[in-house]
Amino acid sequence: MVYDAAVIGAGPAGITAALYLVRSGVSTVLVENGATGGQILSTAEIENYPGFPKGVKGWELADLFEAHLAGYPVTRKRGSVASMDAPASGKPAVLHLEDGEEMGAKAVLACSGASHRKLGVPGELELAGRGVSYCAVCDGNFYRGRDVAVVGGGNSALEESLYLARIVRKVYLIHRREAFRGDKIYEDKVRASANIELVTSCIVDAVAGQTAVEAVDVHHLTTGEKRRIPVDGVFMYVGMAPASGWLPSSVMRDAGGFVKTDAEMCTNIPGIFAAGDIRAKHCRQVSSAVGDGATAATAALSYLEQWHA
Ligand code: NAP
Repeated sequence: MVYDAAVIGAGPAGITAALYLVRSGVSTVLVENGATGGQILSTAEIENYPGFPKGVKGWELADLFEAHLAGYPVTRKRGSVASMDAPASGKPAVLHLEDGEEMGAKAVLACSGASHRKLGVPGELELAGRGVSYCAVCDGNFYRGRDVAVVGGGNSALEESLYLARIVRKVYLIHRREAFRGDKIYEDKVRASANIELVTSCIVDAVAGQTAVEAVDVHHLTTGEKRRIPVDGVFMYVGMAPASGWLPSSVMRDAGGFVKTDAEMCTNIPGIFAAGDIRAKHCRQVSSAVGDGATAATAALSYLEQWHA
């Protein structure tokens, strides 16, 4: 089967791209390896997406995206793309799915997003799922009335600390610098929270515990002072890693593996577009992902016109 367009990933960027493509009469397959919504499903509250002055829960927005797409003839395929042969000399791209299925597409829109990076300290992998978590919305309730640590200093760490502080007894927010990278509006709320203790200029050395997390070991960057912080859970928010491994190596990426595009979401390979958090860019928001998706679809439509000419 050869589709006009294949959209890989059903987060805000992929949903928007698929919507724009199918509304333009283009045969479109949307390949999704999880529930519709991507990262917004693990976001408690989204306060900065226009149209929702009181905020919207991540899963509610995902439901609305899904409902919007449901009325259109998009082919939905559940699965993961393992690899892809780039389109070349008038031949469509070939997508190889992990279940062995292959599908062709004249244009491919990479909207597979990014996931939370590992910190890479002893105990992290060993205790993953036994106290080490990357999703406060998914796992926070396990720590109701208990003490947890959050690692990181960006918007994710700040926002998820605020979310956890409403559930747990105490949050230790551990950051390697004094200044936070995240937005001031969240930092101010964190600083004002009665049950968030800031542990700044501290490096995490290890997550300690036999069968479950018991503590986090840190040391102070300037004094070298070591401290063991007893906690039952550790939530890691130290940045994002792109899900770009399935793309051909000829697609240009930055040092972190994020896909480089121009302003129209075109990669260096004609027929391959990228949108949302998989892209090398600064602003990673639901609204910017939606904008990327619309832009990528528009560029793909122009590309498909040349194809059919
Ligand atoms: P991020 O902004 O890249 O922040 C990662 C944080 O982890 C930084 O504070 C960084 O420290 C720290 N870090 C990285 N490697 C570390 C290490 N090895 N040890 C200790 N700390 C380490 O990542 P993010 O917070 O996941 O956010 C990703 C993107 O999504 C950002 O563009 C963010 O604005 C966006 N986002 C937006 C919202 C919102 O607007 N509502 C919510 C969530 C995420 P340094 O500061 O020292 O580099």
